[in-house]
Amino acid sequence: MAPPVIGIEQNKLLLNNFAEDLISWHKKNGRHNLPWQIKISPYKVWISEIMLQQTQVKTVLPYYKEFLIKYPNIKSLSNSKLDDLLELWTGLGYYRRAENIYKTSQILKNKYNYIFPKKYEDILDLPGIGKSTAGAILSIAYNKKYPILDGNVKRVIKRYFAIKGINDNENNLWNISESLLPANNNNIFTQSIMDLGALVCVKKNPLCNECPLNKKCKSLKLKLTDKIPEKKQKLVKKHVNLYLLLIQKYESEKFVLMKKNPSDGIWANLWNLPSFNGVNEYKKFLLSNNISGTSSQYDYIEHNLSHLKLKIDIIKVELKKCTEVDNYCWKNIYDKIGSSKPIMMIIDKLKREQK
Ligand code: SF4
Repeated sequence: MAPPVIGIEQNKLLLNNFAEDLISWHKKNGRHNLPWQIKISPYKVWISEIMLQQTQVKTVLPYYKEFLIKYPNIKSLSNSKLDDLLELWTGLGYYRRAENIYKTSQILKNKYNYIFPKKYEDILDLPGIGKSTAGAILSIAYNKKYPILDGNVKRVIKRYFAIKGINDNENNLWNISESLLPANNNNIFTQSIMDLGALVCVKKNPLCNECPLNKKCKSLKLKLTDKIPEKKQKLVKKHVNLYLLLIQKYESEKFVLMKKNPSDGIWANLWNLPSFNGVNEYKKFLLSNNISGTSSQYDYIEHNLSHLKLKIDIIKVELKKCTEVDNYCWKNIYDKIGSSKPIMMIIDKLKREQK
């Protein structure tokens, strides 16, 4: 069923006091002490918004804190290297975000003289920044009247107006989000609607008793809070088998054979062990590089990506002599490098064993 188009006129009643009610609820019940809310700046809002894409606050917190210590402002960030950012990002996932932050930092340096732009179109032009992130930066950091539409806000809007349908009518939702904006205090309003979605109008079992919108919420009235938003059909993840070769340097176990991934594909630009899709492939690699040694299963890891389920066999090859391999290098496992979670797990295991 197509979602009903909600016009401002038809819903004046629902819109009345929406922002006021939310803002006064936020004063007492919202989040006020998240690190990006202290001494707010466009830089802090930008970094936090990018980190929070697809990632929960509690996961983001330690990464954000470390990021701000290392890169307290645009200048320090723009002097960083992509490798340093990827190293800091290790474990947070969706590594393309770190690359986009890096690219944006270079634009801020070269085009904007280290000052975050204030115009919507300019912000939207920056890598990795969509309409919702641009809206969040403009409203929270500059107190400008711009809507946002992240997952939490979508859920609040859909429930409050009882908008059914799996296929989102994005334009309709954007129009509604815009129509909810107050004349003033857009910074607080944006925080308020985000917090309501994160703390009260949560995915499962929303806390409607505590909600400042409960008197007018259409889903609550129609007993549809568990039906809206409708669940999307679960994406069936493709299973992919991977074989990673763990080869330690003959002269020193502290060094493992690694190379950097290309700049496209999964785990782009991250350090990786020799990686193959089949047994024959990795055997060919060993043969063609004249790598002789005893092979044995070292570990097995299952790892989920947004669209893939990786089944990873880690094969340890114990060298019998000194070896060099074209396009690979020996990486010290105690060096800080940007790598994927499975690689970090293997390296951590090696470190524990070497203690
Ligand atoms: S009343 Fe319940 S369903 Fe409606 S907006 Fe509030 S928490 Fe969400």
